[in-house]
Amino acid sequence: MSFMDKVKAGVAEAGSKAKTVVEINKLKMINISKQSSINQAYQEIGKRVFEFEEKGLGLPPQDMLEPYMNRVRLLKLEIEQNVQKMANLSVTKKCSKCGASVHIEERKCPKCEAAFEIIDVTDYETVGYESSMKSVAHAFGSGEEEPDGGEKR
Ligand SMILES: [Zn+2]
Repeated sequence: MSFMDKVKAGVAEAGSKAKTVVEINKLKMINISKQSSINQAYQEIGKRVFEFEEKGLGLPPQDMLEPYMNRVRLLKLEIEQNVQKMANLSVTKKCSKCGASVHIEERKCPKCEAAFEIIDVTDYETVGYESSMKSVAHAFGSGEEEPDGGEKR
C-alpha cells in the first residue's frame, strides 16, 4: 500500500467512524425526546386519576386512559428498537498488540494501553438498519475472503 493509499484509507475509516458516532448520537437524542413524551403521557394519566379521585368518582374509566397507555406502549417499543439499532452500530475493533476487543471509539487499548494510530475499523457503512445487520454478519462471518485484498493484521 502506498502512502497516499494509506492516507485515503485512513480518511475513509475516520469518515465512517464519524458517521457511526453521528448516527448513534441522533438515536440517543430521539430516545430522549420519546422518553419525555412518555413522561407527558404518564402525567395525563396521573392527572385524570387525580381528578376522578378528587371528585369521589373512583378510578377513571378504562377507555379514558387507554389512549395514553397505548401511547406509552408504542413509545417504549420505539425506544427499544432504537437501542437495538445503536447496539448494531457500535462496532468493535481488535487491538493489534494484545488482540483485545475494543470499542470503536477508543483511542487506546484499555487492556494493554497500546495507542491506535490508524483506526482499524471493519468495513462498515451506516446506511441503515438492514445494511448494518448485513455488515455485522459479514464482519463476524466466515472471514475467509478479504474482498479489499487488505493487509493482514
Ligand atoms: Zn491491547
